[in-house]
Amino acid sequence: MNEVRVRFAPSPTGPLHIGGVRTALYNYLFARKHGGKFLLRIEDTDQTRYVPGAEDYIIESLKWCGIAYDEGVGVGGPHSPYRQSERKELYREFADVLINTGKAYYAFDTPEELEAMRERLKARGVATPQYDAFTRGEMVNSLTLSKEETEKRLNSGEPFVIRILIPENEEIQVDDIIRGEVKVHSSRLDDKVLFKSDGMPTYHLANIVDDHLMEITHVIRGEEWLPSAPLHVLLYRYLGWEAPQFAHLPLLLKPDGNGKLSKRDGDRLGFPVFPLRWTDPFSNEVSSGYRESGYLPEAFINMLAFLGWNPGTEQEIFSMEQLVDAFSIERVGKSGSKFDPEKAKWFNHHYIKELTDENLSTHLIDILKEKGISADKSYASEVCRITRERVVLLPDLWNQSWFFFTEPESYDEKVVQKFWKPETPALLRQLAAVLDAAADFSAESVETIVKAFIHDNELGMGQVMNTLRLVLVGGSFGPGVAAIIALLGKTETLRRIEKAIQSLDNLAI
Ligand code: GLU
Repeated sequence: MNEVRVRFAPSPTGPLHIGGVRTALYNYLFARKHGGKFLLRIEDTDQTRYVPGAEDYIIESLKWCGIAYDEGVGVGGPHSPYRQSERKELYREFADVLINTGKAYYAFDTPEELEAMRERLKARGVATPQYDAFTRGEMVNSLTLSKEETEKRLNSGEPFVIRILIPENEEIQVDDIIRGEVKVHSSRLDDKVLFKSDGMPTYHLANIVDDHLMEITHVIRGEEWLPSAPLHVLLYRYLGWEAPQFAHLPLLLKPDGNGKLSKRDGDRLGFPVFPLRWTDPFSNEVSSGYRESGYLPEAFINMLAFLGWNPGTEQEIFSMEQLVDAFSIERVGKSGSKFDPEKAKWFNHHYIKELTDENLSTHLIDILKEKGISADKSYASEVCRITRERVVLLPDLWNQSWFFFTEPESYDEKVVQKFWKPETPALLRQLAAVLDAAADFSAESVETIVKAFIHDNELGMGQVMNTLRLVLVGGSFGPGVAAIIALLGKTETLRRIEKAIQSLDNLAI
């Protein structure tokens, strides 16, 4: 087999959906697995759908995911440029080849004429009217006009399009690695526009020309492109080129399996459908991203890999290198894959557990920085050590540990009502004195001291521990009380006890 060359070819029409990231990932894995090349090509020929910032978003998303490409926009390569709008001049030549060999034709129909055709056909009972073998003979094109008239129109600058001539009565076969043989009768295809008089090719022409020129061996893309595949097969044949192998990936479905996963499902069910946060440049609407929601890229990739593929074993945790090893396109299923937001969290929790305290603390330090708090690395590491088991998403790092960096501003009323008694201040002061006298302030030692104090004074364990927790964190959450005390240190612990007495004492009277 020639060197494997695959590409991810997104159109910069908005943020990249996670389904798109999965397409990029499978292409990447396939290329790496076979020692081939993976390309990023930006398909921006439809200027009306161009969205500023979308291309940068795509590139940044791939970077965050660790999906590196060998050739493409931003990195260059032997087939530069990789942005279709910069390859504009190149496509006309191939449209002309098709015209000259009778496989395509000029059409001059105005939007009104096209609309009239559709109305006419509907009136005749045709459910899906289209420009095809059945209708092209009634339209204004180089098949119905004389050669001279066609020339005249072209020379006078009249707007035109170039349409493919779909053969009549032929079964067109697409060989798909995932779906096997897909056959479509040519009567179901329309004479798609390949080129417009604004000098721009349409997606179909640009896509196959570039796949050919860039020596793409396998086209791995979403199922939504399967209906276009017969047309692409025909174009390859018309141009005398060998078609690449196709693999159309299954759809990503809503968590309940009813239909395609959309941005609205994410909003409704509270999970991102985009890798990174996206601010729409027109409406300023913000959509959440996996990165900003606190997912690790390793977890995101592992989760995505399983949406359509499985290794055929029980193993669920795969690093990128392991995925490269295990991946095979033959193990990608045909049927849609249900997105499971809980599983995404499960993967993240796993990868967070795998991080060392020190590595996890770099994420905590980033969060603290954003809040204008500077923290000592070893202190942050210790905080991670005692709070980490409660961390599923990175922002939980802060939710579970903020009280190590800033004192509580208020005290949970319900907890106060339950545990704050008239005798509490005196007891807390006694305990503070005992803690103050402690030479060893490790969590173990603090635990022993507090327990002995409870025992000696015949107090309730829950009563004292909960009150202590309340004064230290402001509520009834967080890791073990002794661990909190040890990490806060003697001075801060005593200060918080005194502060709580000052603020809550009036309340209890
Ligand atoms: N530009 C198409 C897209 O936006 C690419 C489809 C293909 O991979 O052929 O998805």
